[in-house]
Order: sequence, then C-alpha cells, then structure tokens
Amino acid sequence: MVQSSLLEPPPSRKRVSVLLPLPFPHPLDYAVPEALVDSLAPGDVVVVPLGGRRETGVIWEQTKLPADLAPPPPPDIAASRLRPLKERLDLPPLSAELRQFIDWVAAYTVSPPGMVLAMALRSHLRGEQAAPGVGWVRDGEPPDSLRMTPARRAVLEALPAGAEPVTMGDLTQTAGVGISVVRGLADAGVLRSVLMAAASPFAEPDALHNLPVLEGDQALAASELRARVDERAFSATLLEGVTGSGKTEIYLEAVAECLAHGRQALVLLPEIALSAQWMDRFARRFGVRPAVWHSEIGQKARRLTWAACEDGSAKVIVGARSALFMPFSNLGLVIVDEEHEAVFKQEEGVTYNARDMAVVRARLAKVPIVLASATPSLETLNNVETGRYRHLVLTARHGGATMPETRLIDMRENPPPRGLFLSPVLVEAVKSRLERGEQAMLFLNRRGYAPLTLCRTCGHRMECPNCTSWLVEHRKKRVLACHYCEHTEPVPHACPTCGAEDSLTAIGPGIERITDEARSEFPDARIMVMASDTLGAPAAMAEAVGKISRREVDLIIGTQIVAKGWHFPHLTLVGVVDADLGLGGADLRAGERTMQLLHQVAGRAGRAEAAGEVLLQSFTPEHPVMQALVSGDFAAFMAEEADQRRPGFWPPFGRLAALIISSENADAADNAARQLGISAPHGNGVEVLGPVPAPIAVLRGRHRRRLLLRTHRNIAVQPILRRWLGQVTLTSAVRVDVDVDPISF
Ligand code: ADP
Ligand code: ZN
Repeated sequence: MVQSSLLEPPPSRKRVSVLLPLPFPHPLDYAVPEALVDSLAPGDVVVVPLGGRRETGVIWEQTKLPADLAPPPPPDIAASRLRPLKERLDLPPLSAELRQFIDWVAAYTVSPPGMVLAMALRSHLRGEQAAPGVGWVRDGEPPDSLRMTPARRAVLEALPAGAEPVTMGDLTQTAGVGISVVRGLADAGVLRSVLMAAASPFAEPDALHNLPVLEGDQALAASELRARVDERAFSATLLEGVTGSGKTEIYLEAVAECLAHGRQALVLLPEIALSAQWMDRFARRFGVRPAVWHSEIGQKARRLTWAACEDGSAKVIVGARSALFMPFSNLGLVIVDEEHEAVFKQEEGVTYNARDMAVVRARLAKVPIVLASATPSLETLNNVETGRYRHLVLTARHGGATMPETRLIDMRENPPPRGLFLSPVLVEAVKSRLERGEQAMLFLNRRGYAPLTLCRTCGHRMECPNCTSWLVEHRKKRVLACHYCEHTEPVPHACPTCGAEDSLTAIGPGIERITDEARSEFPDARIMVMASDTLGAPAAMAEAVGKISRREVDLIIGTQIVAKGWHFPHLTLVGVVDADLGLGGADLRAGERTMQLLHQVAGRAGRAEAAGEVLLQSFTPEHPVMQALVSGDFAAFMAEEADQRRPGFWPPFGRLAALIISSENADAADNAARQLGISAPHGNGVEVLGPVPAPIAVLRGRHRRRLLLRTHRNIAVQPILRRWLGQVTLTSAVRVDVDVDPISF
C-alpha cells in the first residue's frame, strides 16, 4: 500500500484540526507535540484528549464545498489554549476524496460532520481492536521509571521483542489483562501498533469468465456504458427497462469494463441481506463472489472488507447504503440498482438518501454512475429531462419472455364471501395455475393477522401506548404488536374499556389471515409465507428462495419482501390482495410509490417461457395508478405526476426539507414548533408549511410536530435551515431533526 505521506514529508504543523466521531458542529483544534510536527498529514487517525477521555479522530482540513452548502467557519482558538494531541495511530489515512465526501454529506444533510464520520467509520475508529488488521509489537525496553505491575509484566511476556504483531484481542486474552494495560505500555513507548499484512480474502473477479451474448438494445446499452467507464469522468446514466429486460446483465458489463481497467466498482442494492440470488448471478458472470458490505456482516468480515477496499484488493463491493462510505483507493464506477427504492433513504441519525449521495460520491471521484430501474423515480426522470443524466432504455424482456398481462378485479362487483378477502375470480385463477403445476403468488404488504382489533360492543380500538398506531394482531405468536416500536401485549379476552367478553374482533387482513384463507381454499397447495418477521435472516431467505426455485412450493404468500428482484421461473400468477393499500393518506409520493411497488411485484410473474398474469384486487379500478399498471404506460403516468407537482413547486420541481420537532412532553413540542413557526423564513420562493402534527404524531413516546420548508429549485435549503435553526433557542426537552429531501410526509 502506498501512502503519499511516506513519499513526501508533509509540511510541518504546529496545530491541527481533528474531526471526532461526535456531534460537534466542526472539527476541534489541537496542538501538535514536537515529535509529531513533521509527520502528521490530513486523514491521519489520531488520539486526542477530550475532557478526561481519549478519543480517536481524523486530522481534518477545510474542504471545498459549494458556497451555499459550506457551513460557517469554526471559531478561532488561541494557540496557547490548545491541548496537545496524544498520538498518531498506525492506520491507513482517510483519503482526501472520502473526507470531502463526508463533508459534503454533512453539509447537505445539515448534520454535524462528526456524525457522518461516525457512521462512515463505525468499525475503523472504534479503537484499535476493531481497526483493520492492526497488531501490536514491542517498541523498546521499559524505562526504569515505569512501574512494573504484574499485569504489565504479563503483557511483556506475551509479547517479547521481535515477535510478530498480535491483535489487541489476542494480546489481552493471552496476558489476561484489560485494554488499558496495553494502552498504558503504548503511552510509555514500550509497545507500538502496526498494520498487519494480510492476504486479501477477495479473489479477483474475472471480467472474461462467462460472457453474455448481447444483441439489439442490450448490446447498444452495454457499449454506451463501457464508453462511460472508459471516459474516466463523471457522468450519470439512467438505465431503464422493464423487469427481466436485462438491466443487471448490462450493468455487469460496465463492471467488467471497470475491472478490465483495474479499477474498483461499487454496487448499491436495496436490502443487500436478501440478495443471495444476486451474488450467485455475479459469481456466474465473474467466477467469484464480490465483497459484501452491510450492517449484518460480522466484525471480522467487516475488518477484512474495509482493509481490502482500502488497499484496492477488493475489486467489487456490493452493499447497502453504508457501502457508500467505503475507502475505495481506485474507484472507477458506481451502480445503484432499483434506484427508486425508498430504502435508500436512511431515516435515523444522519438522514440521507444513498441514491443521491452516490451521485455526489461519483462526482467527487470523477467516475460514472449508473442508476437502474424499471420504474425510475420522478427525481431521476426529471434529471434525464433536463439533460443532467443520460438515458438508456431496454424495451423488451430478454429471450422472448413477455410482460405479464395485468387485469383488475373490481372488488365492488366481485366481493369475497363475508369475512374473507380473496374474490372468487382470484381464487379460481390461482386454482387453475395450481392445477397446471405452475406456481402462484399472493401479495399483501401487511405483516401479521389483522391491522386492527376493535371491540364490537363499545368501538374501542386497541392502540399502542407509545405511538399513534393501531396494534397489529400476530395470531401465531398470540400477541398484539406495534409496528413502530417494540411494544407487544397479549391479546386480551375482554375489552379493556367496556369489559365485554369475546367482543374484540380482528378487522382487515394481514398475510397470516390470507394464509389461513388460502389453506382452506387450496388445501393441497404447498404454501410458503415470506415476510420480514418470518424470514428475517439471510440464510432463511436463501433457503426459501431455493425451495421456490426447486418447485417445492406451489403458492407463495408474501409482503413487500417478495417484490425484490427475485427470479422465479415457474411463477406465472401474481395476485395482489389489496392494490389500493398505500394510496390512502396525503403523502405526495403515494401514487408513485404504489405504482413502483406493484409493478415490481407484478414483475415476478412469467419471467421464463410460460406467460405470466397479474390480478389486482381494487376498490378504485379507475385510479390512475391502477390504469397505469394495466396499460403498462408508466411514462404517461409519470408525466401526469410531474404535471401535478410542477405548479406547486413540489419535488423535483422545488426543494423540501422537514423539521421534526419532538419531545416527551406534548406542550414542549407544541411550544417549540410554534416558536420555530414564528421565526420561519418566507418570501422570494421560500415558504414554510405548518407546524402540524407529524405523520405519526406520537412515536416511541415522543410527541412529534412538523414544519415543512419548501423553496424553488434554484434556492438551496441548507443556508436557510442553518440561519433559521440558529435564531431559535429551544429547551433541552425538545429535539429537532432535520430531514433534507424527505421522501414521505
Ligand atoms: P432485469 O435486471 O432488467 O430485471 P435481468 O438482467 O435480471 O433483468 O435479466 C432477466 C433474465 O434474463 C435473467 O435471468 C438474465 O440472466 C437473463 N438475461 C438477460 N439478458 C441476457 C442475455 N443477453 N443472455 C443471457 N441471459 C440473459
Ligand atoms: Zn408503538
């Protein structure tokens, strides 16, 4: 690994700014001890004092940001008041590119940069233990002044001079001491941390392993993408095509080109933990599996993957949102698959949209990005329209497979029998598929047995004590559960309000209830239920998918987990139990979102030779979303959506940011919201809506209010937000979360 700081001595520094993974508004300044004056460079990982603690941080340098994003400079602190930095850790420095990206994300999301750093470097910075391949060696004999405790002696015996480096974990375990003992010896100059050489566990993908035969649209799209990769410059391309048209096949060709240049590729997928099929697909094309990064990989894999990305030996990293912050040494291409997916938005902590930040990362790295989708977001379509993004379209399914025929079942004319939810038309359709030995799927985006439990005597609804939400019955587990917090309670026998016995009634269907109904309608069918709570672990998911592929399952019943890019060749019928679900409420994107989800679900049908069929049960068959699903004319639907949003400057034709004001105390939340409302900016293309109760008015015991800032597209929201928030002093009982580009409201 070549560190530029080794080739050229960095300039002498008497003071440095250090970004700590903590919620400070800016990096903190430290004095540089004489011994380190000539050896520190931006990006170095260092230990500094903070109060009475030691903290690990990164030497930071002002990066260039667009003027309207840049936060105000930190206050000047006299050199005499600075505390000295403690030590420099022997870890690979953070590249300038990654540091700039972190600053960008922080500025764009109006978050403390330290919190973005914390998110980015969760494993890198959490002490040497978790750091990539760091080991400890002897660095000299203990000075006479050092008191030799038994614990210290044990460490020195475990680590004689000249021995190979050992990890902190191994060292403390062998010596039977705590970390502080090792640190103490390091501070005394007896031990030193070093990078351990490790063979990369990631075999290089072979770009020529298994080449596809491409023709027509596909060949054209692939050569366009190859050209983008060859340019070694920023460009953004939307790769649009119906499900099964070969988008994955094509963007893997861009990856192959990138590999041929010896550069690294980053592929972001929604819900990476579920995508065993994608990994197999990659392995078939390139001969090996890619390196994977998501929140559920173990500590050791995390360390190895981080290091292999850093030293360039991991050529392709496939990951969830957080993979955006990997330390690529030679990035050549970024791909975002299913770019319209809402899961790319992180809603907790630093709220950022990984799709949008991926574009930023690609721009900073001067590499191309490809956004793939069958149903692109209006944001992305608008970027195509205005010429910011290029556009490639695959028009037909590969190999002559046809798009499934989509039909509506008008539930007003085809009501199911009382207390049931499957219309006779849908039941017949499933039966005939099963009789032919084909697979069918029933889709309902709702976990549990029933979304509402109601007392028939007094009308009492079972609600969560911590949230504004109904409790969902999970009959198998015999509990009522809140889907917003962890609250569960047993299903009561009597109504808690009026005391009536046997009066509580389940209202509406969840997939457990649909499964019961299916078992009695199709008694011979082998049924597989797929929901995030029944198939949480990736292994269970892979097992389920395997069973379906091997035709050990006849009927699949699932929530949105089944909508992901699975390829089930024997599945020919998809029945959507409640196509209207998701259209209720005032959410700006309800229509777009529902259309995307249902199209994705529909896309599971008929992916091989047998023609597929999709049946949508709806009470509003005239709704534009239903009509678009039947006609397949999404472009027309999205054009209509655009026409509705344009006049009011709704995204993507204007900018939005939400302030969520929350407190355990309802009055405190109201007061703070009012205060912010009074000082709200307005005029000249800037407007604030609210305060109003946030969509879930009480969440986990916190009362939530919302203010929505809306501006014309040419006005950046960040400086307005910073000024606005800076004007108002709120009590500590209140928290304000900023959400730039909220996706649901
Ligand atoms: P999408 O990503 O658009 O849904 P995929 O890339 O998954 O489409 O392609 C759908 C199916 O068709 C996959 O099984 C894929 O392997 C196959 N396929 C697509 N293009 C080709 C091709 N040129 N040669 C062979 N198989 C292909
Ligand atoms: Zn709750």
